[in-house]
Amino acid sequence: MKIAFIGLGNMGGGMAANLVKAGHDVRAFDLSEAALAAAQEAGCIPFAGASEACAEAEAVVSMLPNGAIVKSVYESDVIGKAPAGAVLLDCSTIDVATAKDVISATSAAGYEMVDAPVSGGIAAANSGTLTFMVGGTEAAFRRAEPILEAMGKAVIHAGDAGAGQTAKICNNMLLAITMIGTAEAMKMAEKLGLDPQKFYEISSQSSGYNWSLNAYTPLPGVGVESPADNGYAGGFATPLMVKDLRLAMEAAETADAAVPLGARAAALYEDFLGAGNEALDFSAIIKTY
Ligand code: NAD
Repeated sequence: MKIAFIGLGNMGGGMAANLVKAGHDVRAFDLSEAALAAAQEAGCIPFAGASEACAEAEAVVSMLPNGAIVKSVYESDVIGKAPAGAVLLDCSTIDVATAKDVISATSAAGYEMVDAPVSGGIAAANSGTLTFMVGGTEAAFRRAEPILEAMGKAVIHAGDAGAGQTAKICNNMLLAITMIGTAEAMKMAEKLGLDPQKFYEISSQSSGYNWSLNAYTPLPGVGVESPADNGYAGGFATPLMVKDLRLAMEAAETADAAVPLGARAAALYEDFLGAGNEALDFSAIIKTY
């Protein structure tokens, strides 16, 4: 299949390479020459612009930094440039309102489109083990599914347009809350004289069991191996968590949803980022306790 791929950064680079491995003809564009050269190295065909990459595409996949960029790329380079009948997949993490607007604009122009943000970081993008949460019509989902399967281990239809982004930000708000809760409990146990490893052994098999504790233990040398054991390098960088929490707070406001813990988690992560921790994994917030 001829697939245009726009945005070949940390995530998109590995995802496009996996589409090449699955036998697709991947037509790549990125504003960064270095990213485009790396994609070419991985077997993609480089194009001088997004609209050129889309010109003969049967599908378009985008993996871009934010909603404003996604909107402008679809408005100027995809709508009317990709052949009628191409299926469109935006895998970027963006705000729910923009995701719905872009799908509404592409639908009005006759395209089928899904929002398909991912769970999993750069390692999962490279190894083709991302989880995709997908919003859009049943027909659009059916067309997008085999393309997403070449880049991921799970592809879930969340609901109508925007439902993928909704699932993503609600999930990541929950992740921020469980990470902060885990950090607080571990440090309090330690201050009360309990060996953190003992606390891990007990709580990971008790009602305190949660992914942040069990699968991503934020203290070095305790529990499972995680970014904590590597000086909090790699993993899910703090600026990306802050980005997702800002999107979550914006969405909560538009939906008039009460999110007292989400708001507190967002404020704590904003402070942590502002204190110069942009290079650290989000689990490093435990260092503030
Ligand atoms: P990145 O900054 O590494 O990559 C984005 C790429 O888009 C860059 O190469 C940039 O040059 C390119 N770009 C920007 N504007 C463009 C335009 N107009 N036309 C073409 N290319 C353009 O970011 P990333 O880490 O790959 O993240 C991409 C998306 O995935 C974001 O929405 C992010 O929130 C989401 N995400 C990232 C991770 C992660 O761990 N990095 C995890 C889950 C989701």
